[in-house]
Amino acid sequence: MADHRASRRRVDVSRERKYVLRRAIIGAVALLALIYAIAATVTAVGAIGAARGADDAPSAAQAAADGRDGQTDGADDADASDDGKKTDDGKSDGDAADADGTSEDDPFGVKAVHAADATAQPLTDAERAAIMERATAAAEASGNGVTTFTYCIATNGDVGSTVAFANTVYETLNDARGWTRAGAVFTQIADDACASADMAIILAQAERMTDYSLGCSTEYSCRVGNDVIVNADRWNGGTDTWLGAGGTLARYRTMVINHEVGHRLGHIDNETWCAAPGAAAPLMQEQSMGLDGCVGNEWPLDGELWIA
Ligand SMILES: [Zn+2]
Repeated sequence: MADHRASRRRVDVSRERKYVLRRAIIGAVALLALIYAIAATVTAVGAIGAARGADDAPSAAQAAADGRDGQTDGADDADASDDGKKTDDGKSDGDAADADGTSEDDPFGVKAVHAADATAQPLTDAERAAIMERATAAAEASGNGVTTFTYCIATNGDVGSTVAFANTVYETLNDARGWTRAGAVFTQIADDACASADMAIILAQAERMTDYSLGCSTEYSCRVGNDVIVNADRWNGGTDTWLGAGGTLARYRTMVINHEVGHRLGHIDNETWCAAPGAAAPLMQEQSMGLDGCVGNEWPLDGELWIA
């Protein structure tokens, strides 16, 4: 009996050892599995973090670029550009006046603008002088004193003739409805003198927009430092949003010049918002992203009449 009991005890002990050993092995496997799981999780989190970091970089760059340069969108609207008004403003005829012409088969004036582009002649000295005289009078009336900004006209890529572009830039920037009301007047200097200009106003092929900043979009115009870059695709075609809201290509051009130069003068995108349904959108509103109930507007509002 005693032997038998002893034998059973040995068997029990042996079973117990096997049990303990099995538990130990299971435990070890479980521990390894846990360590592996933790390692995998840490690696995954690290990878996500790294990916996020990478995304952030472009976002930050883009945000900075947006702030500084503003992608332009355009906005637009309504009618302000009736021929009658244009004559009243005394805009020097030429392409700008023709540009607003719309017709049934050319509701946005795109064909008219392109036709005017093709035959545009450089503004004469006398025309420029007359425009500057009105600009100076408007700037003097601002009460802010007169600040002269110099700019050069430049191109990047194959954008064709810049005659119409140069004319429109000069007429727009020195229009009595524009930044002149904040005290700014704009003098064009030689194309090869961009280095000494307060800003370069550049007509660029869409694909070249990112030459200036990765934050610039090939879809829109942009401003980086002293470079005011107008996207040739937008210059020649406006945006669906702007034209769809009733704006013309000529008015889009005015808006894009004033908006982008507005950035160079110290303004940021959306610094003021649509004040009320049907009101004119602030010039610096990203109007192509939505009008928020406003109507498109290509000139600075009273509340935007300051320069840095
Ligand atoms: Zn902008």
